[in-house]
Amino acid sequence: MSLGYGHEHIAIPGPSPVPTRVLNAAHRASPDIYAEPLAALNLQVMAQLKRLAGTRANLAPYIGNGHAAWEAATANLFDRGETVLVLTSGHFGRSWADVLTACGVEVERLDFGNAPADPARLAARLAADPESELKAVMVCQIDTASGTQADIPALRAAMGDHPALLVVDAIASLGCAPMKMDEWGVDVLLSASQKGLMCPPGMAFVWFSDKAAARGKTGLTTPYWDWHIRAGAEQLWRFWGGTPPVQQVYALDEALRMILEEEGLEAVWSRHARLARAVWAAVDAWGAGNDGIRVTVADAAARAASVTAVTLPRADELRAWVAGVCGVTLGVGLGAPEPSGALRVAHMGHCNAAMVLGVLGAMEAGMIALEIPHGPGGLNAAAAVVAGG
Ligand SMILES: *Cc1c(COP(=O)(O)O)cnc(C)c1O
Repeated sequence: MSLGYGHEHIAIPGPSPVPTRVLNAAHRASPDIYAEPLAALNLQVMAQLKRLAGTRANLAPYIGNGHAAWEAATANLFDRGETVLVLTSGHFGRSWADVLTACGVEVERLDFGNAPADPARLAARLAADPESELKAVMVCQIDTASGTQADIPALRAAMGDHPALLVVDAIASLGCAPMKMDEWGVDVLLSASQKGLMCPPGMAFVWFSDKAAARGKTGLTTPYWDWHIRAGAEQLWRFWGGTPPVQQVYALDEALRMILEEEGLEAVWSRHARLARAVWAAVDAWGAGNDGIRVTVADAAARAASVTAVTLPRADELRAWVAGVCGVTLGVGLGAPEPSGALRVAHMGHCNAAMVLGVLGAMEAGMIALEIPHGPGGLNAAAAVVAGG
């Protein structure tokens, strides 16, 4: 019997649920793209995006997804053959390194397995680079596959006075976990519209410091990706390298109003932190006396605010059950050593306590139905966190 006829829920780490208000804001015919109202709205959205990132630096928007943001940053920062250091903590960091390599950049990887980057190892590596051959240190704030979250200020501190640029992929963390680009000394920040920003996929953003801008044009810079043209634009079409994604800009304006004006950024971060803890509490209870079930990242301080990776026997069967019976879609165990025994629960963007408790309830029902042994009290533990524990 299916109990899934109701509001379907996706708990996958991107694209994340889009609020009805955001969809409605996009639901309009295209206006005159040369008229003043849209140009003014675009400028307002750019200013809000800088507030969101905690920066007064430069911002280049692109029509594209997270992969586009990776390539945009690469095309502006590096020459073919220059060397960068990529700190990898899972599938996304490794994929980013692959893209850099494919673009002709020499990539050195510091691999941390499925743990967040260790500042001490970064400091040691940079100390062995007296000629400053490493042009950038690149890291995902949240690696969405492993469910880890890096300590960006600690990594920046570990860089000391090495001149490398700090480049942070905040695609799965902006609008979920704290980001203070200027205060933390981040040179380049990347994000995309479809995760913490609660919009449909289709927009990518690259914020860059004046130090990064001073790289000028590189051998990899082509007109479409050139961030100088976009960040310094006076005409609307220049920002977007052609026709702006009009309906998306309206959607983003509404989403940023919700985040920045209505809920407030600090409150958004706190909500994510609390809901993440509710998920961890449930998984801990299910795994009590049964180490087959656990939050994959053991150290709570190293866990992501927006997505939790869970190791759980027969996770693929459980995902199919909760989708078919309860109308909930969970994330696949991307990058796990045994993907069929792993899943991910997203608590990202437009996500409230009822949604998280609903997901956890569906998971517990599925474990009962499929006779997956688990400890008692998972939902109680999650409810206690929601209640303020
Ligand atoms: C989702 C994600 C990406 C890739 O984004 P796409 O929009 O799928 O291209 C890159 N990095 C991180 C950390 C992500 O979570």
